[in-house]
Amino acid sequence: ARKFFVGGNWKCNGTTEEVKKIVAVLNEGQVPPPDAVEVVVSPPFVFLPLVKSSLKPHFHVAAQNCWVKKGGAFTGEISAEMIVSLDIPWVILGHSERRLLLNESNEFVGDKVAYALGQGLKVIACVGETLEQREAGKTLDVVAAQTRAIAERVSSWENIVLAYEPVWAIGTGKVATPAQAQEVHHELRKWLHDNVSAEVAASTRIIYGGSVSGGNCKELATQPDVDGFLVGGASLKPEFIDIIKSSE
Ligand code: 13P
Repeated sequence: ARKFFVGGNWKCNGTTEEVKKIVAVLNEGQVPPPDAVEVVVSPPFVFLPLVKSSLKPHFHVAAQNCWVKKGGAFTGEISAEMIVSLDIPWVILGHSERRLLLNESNEFVGDKVAYALGQGLKVIACVGETLEQREAGKTLDVVAAQTRAIAERVSSWENIVLAYEPVWAIGTGKVATPAQAQEVHHELRKWLHDNVSAEVAASTRIIYGGSVSGGNCKELATQPDVDGFLVGGASLKPEFIDIIKSSE
């Protein structure tokens, strides 16, 4: 069985004071035991040590990005080695905000995923189509190409969680319907089955992201191929606790 997974992507938000408040809310929350739900929160790099040291051990921590190879003369970048050295187990890679605003290609994201895995990080790898691509009927082609660029570069999917985040649903309040999410998750799992292996298809968590809230999470969580969520805006609010509990 695939353990339910809830990620909180804080994006480029928060000051030290605000981060302390979010941590306090999480630490006070009544959440299911770690063997029922895996919870990972992803603050900006500068807050990783503070968050890691102040959160209860139930919560794991992720970086939001890392450099594509070993560190060196890459001003402004953060390497996978640095994240590992802070004992941070996870990294989010291929978020659409980086693909679209910073021109990260499928190949570049695939290279990053392979490098981060090689350094011992676990990866939340994001895929998803734009509204234009969806309306042109290209959704499955787009997410398959994004997934293929990863699959071609990695030898194991054991430490990858695949996040389906339709760009049109991110930060818009326009959440995918449970049927829309299930359709793409099912196709992604079928893609893994046909192109990687039946075992990887059966065991890889595929989580949904895009305007997930305390109000809409329960119904999404009932879909057979939805194994959890990657939450943006609502992960900064107390309702994140409700989302963590959505599979109960
Ligand atoms: P929102 O939940 O704010 O729509 O963001 C989703 C997201 O991009 C998580 O990575």
